[in-house]
Amino acid sequence: MATIIPLADLRAPDRTDALAAFAREAALAPAVGGALADARGRGLHDLRISVTDRCNFRCVYCMPKDVFGRDYPFLAHADLLSFEEIARVARVFVDLGVRKIRLTGGEPLLRKNVERLIAMLRALGDVDLTLTTNGALLARKAADLRAAGLSRITVSLDSLDDATFRAMNDVDFPVARVLEGIDAAAAAGLAPIKINMVVKRGMNEASILPMARRFKGSGHIVRFIEFMDVGATNGWRMDDVVPAAEIVRTIGAQMPLVPADPNYEGEVAERWRYADGGGEIGVIASVTQAFCRDCTRARLSTDGKVYTCLFATDGYDLRTLVRGGFDDAALARAVAAIWRRRDDRYSEIRTADTPRTPKVEMSYIGG
Ligand code: SAM
Ligand code: SF4
Ligand code: SF4
Repeated sequence: MATIIPLADLRAPDRTDALAAFAREAALAPAVGGALADARGRGLHDLRISVTDRCNFRCVYCMPKDVFGRDYPFLAHADLLSFEEIARVARVFVDLGVRKIRLTGGEPLLRKNVERLIAMLRALGDVDLTLTTNGALLARKAADLRAAGLSRITVSLDSLDDATFRAMNDVDFPVARVLEGIDAAAAAGLAPIKINMVVKRGMNEASILPMARRFKGSGHIVRFIEFMDVGATNGWRMDDVVPAAEIVRTIGAQMPLVPADPNYEGEVAERWRYADGGGEIGVIASVTQAFCRDCTRARLSTDGKVYTCLFATDGYDLRTLVRGGFDDAALARAVAAIWRRRDDRYSEIRTADTPRTPKVEMSYIGG
């Protein structure tokens, strides 16, 4: 029976204890073989890698300007996992069954030479390799991303109305430049392109229909996302959430929709097709219809911590092991031990009254 590592150990400023605990666990954990499942029987299929905690936007629901200002303590360069370290950890995850890797952030296209990392991850073999971006730098980078081996891309865009979009990204960034990025990604062959729109009551509900109309028939898939209570700084209130059911009703009343089956088990977006064959949309109802039961995602933060839930307060410090001389087999045992004990289901048990305890920020862990 593997020993349990208290999370407190992993947060200790002196990580020697954590390292020792992991070492004990790695030695005691059963060799990894067969399908890995967590404490609720969920497999490990997806890995989200945050490559930077910095961003050129200050979206009001993610990095509010008054918190993420000039003095915000972003990670120092030495704290970031290097590309070699990321690729090594990713290989361990792939060997444990991960088939889908998403690069995120912060804004992943801000990480210098991210194409080099993409090429390294492509070399891991048959993984669906994708990236989520705010699109600001996409027009000039799309072709290089594709050439490096990126399979697909997701672009975030919260409104087609310029004033609304500028207010939401809070750095006065125009819609037109994101649309140029989307076109460049399509031209580069990064299809199908998904477009993420976070819907916040009172800010951009009026943009739901124009977004649906604009991309209907384009081959791009708009995914409407309920505003989530991630992090501790975005002032989330249940009243600000526009339920996915309402979004589907709004669109369906103008452009009839029929439900579509998930593409694969554990897909977070609920799929709807236009009845006239004009393509599909997705809704991500993380608040009103939690999907913890099917959550097969692990997250690797910019500084090398493994998080088993988007709403976790802290992660497991894998970087200490990576830099502490652990070989790949020991890393795999440690990751497997982390996964086996995973019991998270925050969204299933959250209510409007759940206290907003300190949680890790979205911009640090990635979406
Ligand atoms: N900067 C990139 C971007 O915006 O696409 C990647 C990182 S961002 C954290 C990943 C996704 O999370 C984006 O689609 C963003 O809209 C979404 N997101 C951020 N904060 C959110 C929140 N509070 N609720 C729902 N989605 C959120
Ligand atoms: Fe930056 Fe993406 Fe967060 Fe917006 S959602 S602030 S673009 S990390
Ligand atoms: Fe997964 Fe945690 Fe979100 Fe539930 S709350 S779906 S366990 S990340």
